[in-house]
Amino acid sequence: MLTPRRMKNPKADPHIEIKAIYAEVERRPLPRQCAMRTGCCHFRLAGHTPLLTRGEALYAAQGVRASGRKALKPHPDGACPLLGRDGRCTIYTHRPFGCRTHFCAEAGGMYPRKHVADLIQRLEALDEQLGGSGSRPLEAAVSAALAEK
Ligand code: SF4
Repeated sequence: MLTPRRMKNPKADPHIEIKAIYAEVERRPLPRQCAMRTGCCHFRLAGHTPLLTRGEALYAAQGVRASGRKALKPHPDGACPLLGRDGRCTIYTHRPFGCRTHFCAEAGGMYPRKHVADLIQRLEALDEQLGGSGSRPLEAAVSAALAEK
């Protein structure tokens, strides 16, 4: 397992560690049945907004750029600005950690923290190495990352 301490130069490509963390989430044996209802993407209805560390925000921004956008536009329904008009996530492969671990009750519920605590620590360690200041709400975090280049 690649840990931040063993990374030679995380600033050179922080996406390597983020991808490793996301791949590890996929390997965790926690069955969930997401029916893509996107209720969790409607922040007002869900009552929560994903919080992103700096590495997650940089990776999500890469996904936004890959889709041809340079900035986020508010969603007309007040949902996540990355939710497409077709009801699908526009950066699915680049979606943040919270979107990979927070499921609605119908899908089986949120991942218990104890099952992913080590991965959260890796995200926090990377955040520190990248000069981040902790987790920030999705829109602010991704907008700041997009404004960097
Ligand atoms: S990033 Fe994608 S999966 Fe996460 S809340 Fe936004 S639209 Fe939903």
